[in-house]
Amino acid sequence: MDTIEKLTEVFKEFPGIGERQAKRFVYFLMSRNPAYAENLSLLIKDLKKEISQCKECFRFFLRRPKGVGAPTENVGDNKICEICSNPNIDSSTLMVVEKDSDLESVRKSRFYHGKYFILGGLVPVVEKNTKNIVRVNELINQIKNQAKSGLQEIILAFSLNPQGEHTDFYIRNELKNITESLDLKISSLGRGLSTGTELEYSDNDTIKNALKNRQ
Ligand SMILES: [Zn+2]
Repeated sequence: MDTIEKLTEVFKEFPGIGERQAKRFVYFLMSRNPAYAENLSLLIKDLKKEISQCKECFRFFLRRPKGVGAPTENVGDNKICEICSNPNIDSSTLMVVEKDSDLESVRKSRFYHGKYFILGGLVPVVEKNTKNIVRVNELINQIKNQAKSGLQEIILAFSLNPQGEHTDFYIRNELKNITESLDLKISSLGRGLSTGTELEYSDNDTIKNALKNRQ
């Protein structure tokens, strides 16, 4: 494989990018000067250096640079994000979402003030080794921990498409034992979202209604 092909393969792994778009990115990069490529690769390296994955909710977050702004003690030793370590968070609810960008749109809507958990994907309708795809065991551990600090309800918030509905069904089933033994409510965002809705692209009113009408 030559460099063009290798780079095309890399871009093809980006969400929503196909072969043709990947090629266009490569040709675009070829047309820029060396400083552009240098800056791009530095930014990518910095991104990896500056982000952590939260040990509780599994979201990626930027560690605060040392000595700038608020003290870093607030975020533990940089292993727990600022949402999970916020003492004012409503710890009675835990919302399970597919990915980071879903969490960000719910957070931006400002209608939800509880905790989050990022599942890391949706469960394909035909798939046998589901536990390798999504963080079911980690979710169960989080629920056990948070039940000690007042967790009452788990809200499943997946996109309204066949895969999202399958994931909802699958997770409900996996959590059945623990929610029953700890007497936790489990609900789903649904009403207020129309079929095909992706949480990531939902506006604030849609998220507000979906939250209000969860069942
Ligand atoms: Zn977190």
